[in-house]
Amino acid sequence: MNTQDFIKIEEEYGAHNYHPLDVVIEKAEGVWVHDVEGKKYLDCLSAYSAVNQGHVHPEILKAMLEQAKRVTLTSRAFRNDQLPLLYKELSEMTGYEMSLPMNSGAEAVETAVKLARKWAYVVKGVPRHQAEIIVAGNNFHGRTVTIISFSTEPSYRDDFGPFTPGFVVVDYGDAGALEKAITPNTAAVMLEPIQGEAGVIIPPAGYLKKVAEVCKKNNVLFIADEIQTGLARTGKLFAAHHEDVRADITIVGKALSGGFYPVSAVLADKAILGLFQPGEHGSTFGGNPLAAAVARASLRVIREEKLSERAAELGTYFVEQLSEIPSPHVKEVRGRGLLIAVELDKKARRFCEALKERGILAKETHDNVIRFAPPLVIDKETIDWALPSIREVLNMP
Ligand SMILES: *Cc1c(COP(=O)(O)O)cnc(C)c1O
Repeated sequence: MNTQDFIKIEEEYGAHNYHPLDVVIEKAEGVWVHDVEGKKYLDCLSAYSAVNQGHVHPEILKAMLEQAKRVTLTSRAFRNDQLPLLYKELSEMTGYEMSLPMNSGAEAVETAVKLARKWAYVVKGVPRHQAEIIVAGNNFHGRTVTIISFSTEPSYRDDFGPFTPGFVVVDYGDAGALEKAITPNTAAVMLEPIQGEAGVIIPPAGYLKKVAEVCKKNNVLFIADEIQTGLARTGKLFAAHHEDVRADITIVGKALSGGFYPVSAVLADKAILGLFQPGEHGSTFGGNPLAAAVARASLRVIREEKLSERAAELGTYFVEQLSEIPSPHVKEVRGRGLLIAVELDKKARRFCEALKERGILAKETHDNVIRFAPPLVIDKETIDWALPSIREVLNMP
């Protein structure tokens, strides 16, 4: 079967909730993916930063295969010998006292929302069922009904109400507006330190620090959704670290499994995460031994291959080089680490398709932005290989 055969079957039998580029991938390794025609591409999306460690990383693969032969699922009705070690290693690596494992990113966001509400009632003394969570315009936190209830993107929510109450939206990047929105019932502020899906929107310098101060002053929790920005992508373990901010609750997912398996987690100290009592929250697959073994190996690769440092160094280089490309279409090049956006004055889809023809897979976000976010194991030579093609494409009529 060729590319068109696969696409025809997919369009016929699958729901059309995505608009993928017409490339059918059959294998991958490191920064490269191969399609069913035998053509090779540089992956500049990394599955939205889930494969920071590179595709099919041998160490993570080994951990997964070994664990799959032993035991894959116990449910949390029984204990397993991998989850305790994941807890400990996550704590040592991130500095949070505890964590709670889930599967998808959206589930971890839901968990954080429940946790903040519980904290508001039990610790802060907010009247029951009155808690409010402040979020930012143009946020992306996932696709559940509760999460889309506070999305500002019409296509994410228009046909999917009724919505979950208890959320207040303020402009991203405006700490003053955020402070004004705080009431005695405010449980938490939840933000992406950089808005990935909105088009790699980097807030003004000092914003995260100011938000953290405002939260502290008002006895409000600061929840950082680092599902896309965390685990080395922006050149630090967490993007909030660029402003020396430690959120009260940090949410991770995506690269927590190096792309092998859905693994997410909520991180916080005991005073917060210790509030959950048996029976109050859970997931059949959350914290299973296969997931825990994969996550442990994924974290080890981030540490041992110094992926934060790589992302910082190569990200700076990639942004510099992209900025020097003369092009009639580019409005702005911005990025932190290897989370990079090229904003155009026109729709980006056509440019992404042209990049694909030249062996580079990037995806448009919000119509006129091309995101460049390759696996963090990329090297300078590979960036240099890609630049002439990117230059050519950015100069198309
Ligand atoms: C991808 C993403 C999510 C949702 O994760 P899923 O695994 O797709 O549910 C939430 N927040 C941010 C910032 C993300 O990038």
